[in-house]
Amino acid sequence: MNLCDFAPEYIRSIQPYQPGKPISELAREMGLDEAHIVKLASNENPLGTSPLALDAIINTLHDIALYPDGSGYELKAALSKRYQLDPEQIILGNGSNDVLDLAARVFLKPGATAVYSQHAFAVYPLVVKMIGANGISVPARDYGHDLPAMLDAITPETRIVFIASPNNPTGTLSSENELLRFMERVSRDVLVVMDEAYYEYLPEANKPDSISWLKQFSNLLLTRTFSKAYGLAGVRVGFGLTHPDVANLMNRVRQPFNVSSIGLVGALAALHDAEFVQRSYALNRVGMLQLTDGFRRMSIECIPSYGNFISFRVKGDPSNTLTVYQNLLQQGIIVRPLGIYEMPNHLRVTIGLEAQNKRFLEALELALSELN
Ligand SMILES: *Cc1c(COP(=O)(O)O)cnc(C)c1O
Repeated sequence: MNLCDFAPEYIRSIQPYQPGKPISELAREMGLDEAHIVKLASNENPLGTSPLALDAIINTLHDIALYPDGSGYELKAALSKRYQLDPEQIILGNGSNDVLDLAARVFLKPGATAVYSQHAFAVYPLVVKMIGANGISVPARDYGHDLPAMLDAITPETRIVFIASPNNPTGTLSSENELLRFMERVSRDVLVVMDEAYYEYLPEANKPDSISWLKQFSNLLLTRTFSKAYGLAGVRVGFGLTHPDVANLMNRVRQPFNVSSIGLVGALAALHDAEFVQRSYALNRVGMLQLTDGFRRMSIECIPSYGNFISFRVKGDPSNTLTVYQNLLQQGIIVRPLGIYEMPNHLRVTIGLEAQNKRFLEALELALSELN
């Protein structure tokens, strides 16, 4: 036996998360100029960062010798004002992935189960397996969550249900009615994690009033992030909104300084930059139309998306999809293959700037023509 054989089987069997290929890596591999590469692989904000957040971060740089405020007092105060919640209902995370991980560590143990949908965000099975708990993946309906089936999949051992709306990588949305019906029917001793990472990209008419549900349901945890519409993916700040008792337990297991000082000030400033979020939303709407028009012209099937990304299907064998992915890489365009999501025929592309979308569509057209 060597040391690593003593690691629990449930750890050794974990498949590592595969992030989008970094620009620097592609430049190295293909001998391309970094400036020529377009990365549309990680749902990052093509407008960059809120200028207010950037200023706040630059101004805090000379204080980075100091530990951050481990309680995140100011950011929590601002969030509590914004959402009309008690600060004790808020848990901050090193990205919302951290919040997902904290929920798993508080409520799961070996033998417990967590329910999520087929094609749902890859971090759910990851945080479940790290505990040695079991994930139950419920077959999707039209690529979206089948909430009644997810309800039926719950067993006495189930402690968490993960719902992503909109989901990544499918972009599917569960309606406000469906979600509310789910909450009304699910047992109060199962935590429902509603991952709303793309909430800011929803048109007003599609935004569920989920925060108001916290009054009614003590077993609800909403997660949101500064990584997407606020443009702060690199500094890692997300948060959870929940019942104070749930937040209290999550606070006990988090690292004392899980959000950096740069993250705290950046998120606080970004929260007040409504103009930047609005611009991000508007650009995404226009870019989404640009891509779906392009797909239609090329007779490419795509899954209608409510996020800042869209997944599309390459005809024929899954090997065609990988060939197109590689061809796009050679042309300096990074998208995301979805094999690990049980969608081997699909690629996911993030909505970029107009010129980036145009380059992507032209490169895709060329890649598809070279298939035949
Ligand atoms: C991007 C994303 C997140 C956010 O991750 P962070 O850790 O906040 O950067 C969470 N959930 C889903 C479904 C996502 O796609």
